[in-house]
Amino acid sequence: MCGIMGYVGNKEAVPVIVEGLKKLEYRGYDSAGVAIYNNGSFEVIKRKGRLTVLEEALSKRAPSGHMGIGHTRWATHGEPSNENSHPHLGEKEKIAIVHNGIIENHRQLREKLERKGVSFTSETDSEVIAQLAEYYYRGNILETVIKVVNTLEGSFALGVMCLDEPRLIAVRKDNPLIIGEARDGMYLASDVPAILKHTSQVYYLEDKEIAVLDRSGVEFFNMDGEPVSKSPETVAWSADSAEKGGYQHFMLKEIMEQPKVLRMTIDSALCDGGKNKAVIDSIDIRSYNKIIITGCGSAYHAGVVAKYVFESLCGLSAEVELASELRYRNPLIDGQTLVIFISQSGETADTIAAVREAKRRGAATLSIVNVVGSTIAKETDYVLYTLAGPEIAVATTKAFSAQLVLLYILAARFAQDLGALTGGGGTLAEVSALPDMVESLLADTGKIQQFAATCVGYKSIFFIGRNVDYAISLEGSLKLKEISYIHSEAYAGGELKHGPISLIEPDTLVVAISCCQRLAPKIASNVEQVISRGAKALVIGCCTDYEEGVGDKLSAIKFARINELFSPSLSVIILQLFSYYVAANKGLDIDKPRNLAKSVTVE
Ligand code: GLU
Repeated sequence: MCGIMGYVGNKEAVPVIVEGLKKLEYRGYDSAGVAIYNNGSFEVIKRKGRLTVLEEALSKRAPSGHMGIGHTRWATHGEPSNENSHPHLGEKEKIAIVHNGIIENHRQLREKLERKGVSFTSETDSEVIAQLAEYYYRGNILETVIKVVNTLEGSFALGVMCLDEPRLIAVRKDNPLIIGEARDGMYLASDVPAILKHTSQVYYLEDKEIAVLDRSGVEFFNMDGEPVSKSPETVAWSADSAEKGGYQHFMLKEIMEQPKVLRMTIDSALCDGGKNKAVIDSIDIRSYNKIIITGCGSAYHAGVVAKYVFESLCGLSAEVELASELRYRNPLIDGQTLVIFISQSGETADTIAAVREAKRRGAATLSIVNVVGSTIAKETDYVLYTLAGPEIAVATTKAFSAQLVLLYILAARFAQDLGALTGGGGTLAEVSALPDMVESLLADTGKIQQFAATCVGYKSIFFIGRNVDYAISLEGSLKLKEISYIHSEAYAGGELKHGPISLIEPDTLVVAISCCQRLAPKIASNVEQVISRGAKALVIGCCTDYEEGVGDKLSAIKFARINELFSPSLSVIILQLFSYYVAANKGLDIDKPRNLAKSVTVE
């Protein structure tokens, strides 16, 4: 995680770097810092806490200079503190670095350097990079960086500056880094939103590729120090897409953007000339006898929904597994398996590892990602893009919804190709109707707001559902705990009586999803069971006999009837709004929930 921002050019570096870090704060907010090169020395200012604390310090004394690096940290090694904040300097203050990732052999390297008399000032794994670089430095920073990279184990994206050779050096392994090219200078960043305001011309750095930036441009080198030629790509995202646009939080803005995002994503997958359509057309599902879907967090939940949809529509065996588990077990994956990887950032460390494991076993790999040029996009055989634009709020909403529609479309297309459509629905036309249905749900948020306002005091909230309703309950529960800090769990409705019901007491809320017609009576029974034990219930869905409204014991929010397989796209809207308004009523920092970061690039 963590955000890196660097700049070298005609402008003052501090404002450019701080502004970039603001766009990257979703990646970590334990501390922030900058190192600016000026007249033969580095000036470093770094502070524990949010970026605003650093801004406050910089408002009193901002270092002047036209080259610098900045960092917003998500601590992995060493508590959040001023000392552990990045940038880190070597002890001679000749080399400054910012690091995203984890150096797994940091302890051995630190001990070795300490034996040579080097003294460290922080507890981080990252400081070893700066100290090692100074220790190796013999007048050639490129050679030094190559030597350092060859010594480090683990994952890293690095921004490096050397006093004796004032240029900006970037290198990465398993963590993202991009370079933006503009007339007024060169930019280095962990992610595209940080540089959108300045340029749309972006170089995606490959693993173990080194970029050397100065005012006039960038040169690339491989690990033998040989030049590499690369061309920039044009990013389609607009600068506005990384702004709040009048909303109080990015999360609400991103929830409201969903109809547009779904339309664009669906068009790209269904309309002639659409990039996603070309990819879907090129997949021959008859070559595979099994689908495995994997991801982490919400992306995994999209996979859980998809498992039901693939099996129902295509009659094809579909498994879903957390990427962090898949990568470390002995999965039955072979050349007849299609493995689908879901990741908003395309940089999720566990999902990248799962891609590599699946490829090692000969599977065909298909990814669903939001970020063009990301590692997962590059490493998989087929890539489908969610056209969600930049998602800034840590809790995903629009990218998740776009993942769902791509999965539905894949399933409906595979079902067609396999001749498995039974006439019972599940058609592409039904998927195409979703954006309008989402739009009408978002047009009236009054009831869910009213209900959420009554929920700030709950200690525990349970989510239940069956079939796809269970799958989307998992996402509803995750969303709530992420941003409202209320304890929550999701259970398959049938499981309630096997344990969780013992936790039901008067100050508990149970949210039940009911979109599967044949299972609606079962969920209604679950609701009655918990109410009779003192809990309150909220029923959400299109298949329920409960009357809509906010009541004392029982409330219901209903929406138009839809094929149950695609209903998670509607239920999730209510669940997102519910979490958002509960957290808003609690006055929490919704876009940056504690301890979380958006793009999880560490294990
Ligand atoms: N491992 C480093 C630290 O704890 C970097 C973490 C990050 O990527 O933010 O400082």
